[in-house]
Formats: sequence, C-alpha cells, structure tokens
Amino acid sequence: MSEPSIFSRIMAGEIPADILYEDEDCICINDIQPQAPTHVLIIPRKAIARLADATAEDKALLGALMLRVGDIARKLGVDDAFRVCINNGERAGQTVFHLHIHLLAGKSFSEGSLSMQ
Ligand code: 5GP
Repeated sequence: MSEPSIFSRIMAGEIPADILYEDEDCICINDIQPQAPTHVLIIPRKAIARLADATAEDKALLGALMLRVGDIARKLGVDDAFRVCINNGERAGQTVFHLHIHLLAGKSFSEGSLSMQ
C-alpha cells in the first residue's frame, strides 16, 4: 500500500496547514508556495491519486469540489477573476498524487499562460 500523501497527513492533523474551510468532503488550504496572491488548494478527503483515476462513483464529489471552488472564490472576494487548474500526471506538473484543484487569483492571467512546452 502506498504512503499517505502530504495532503492526507495535513487532513490527519500530522502536518500544519493554513486551513480556510473544511467539511466532510474536502479541505481547502493556502498553498505553501503560492503562485498568485490567492492560491488555494481544494482537496477531497478521499485519496484519489489523479483526476484520471476518478470514477463514476466520484461524480457527486467532483461536483461538490467545483461548487466549493466558487464558494471559496466568493468568500475571498475574487469570484470576478480566478483560474482553476488540475495537474494530472508528472509530465503535466503534478507533484502531489492526491487529487487537488488549484484556485489562483489576484494577478492577471495572459492567454499564453496555458501553453505547454
Ligand atoms: P501539483 O504540483 O501536484 O499540482 O500541486 C501541489 C501543490 O501542493 C503545490 O502548489 C505545492 O506548493 C503544494 N504543497 C506541497 N506541499 C505542501 C504542504 O505541505 N502544504 C501546503 N499548504 N501546500 C503544499
């Protein structure tokens, strides 16, 4: 069995984090290395490694996570302009293999910033 992810360890209270919100589905924390003035991670409690590993069983959970993104954006006053990102797989920049949604706001995003090398 694989080691618990850093996010599972945060949820278990083993590692401190700046928690903005939590409920039975997810936890929302500030990213430790923010890439924008607002950089929140929305993380399901269920340890799904990658988005590509989610199944039909996770349909309601994935919906709940997306709705939570909007709620957090409104709570932080950035709902007029934010970007959402999910990195899936090492070659796409995923470093923590526990599904999470990045919510980024507070800087201008150029169209080109979605480019991949
Ligand atoms: P990924 O690269 O997998 O899409 O995103 C992982 C994110 O988790 C990165 O933005 C990284 O800064 C963040 N991160 C990694 N370890 C920790 C941690 O211990 N605490 C917090 N708050 N964020 C972390």
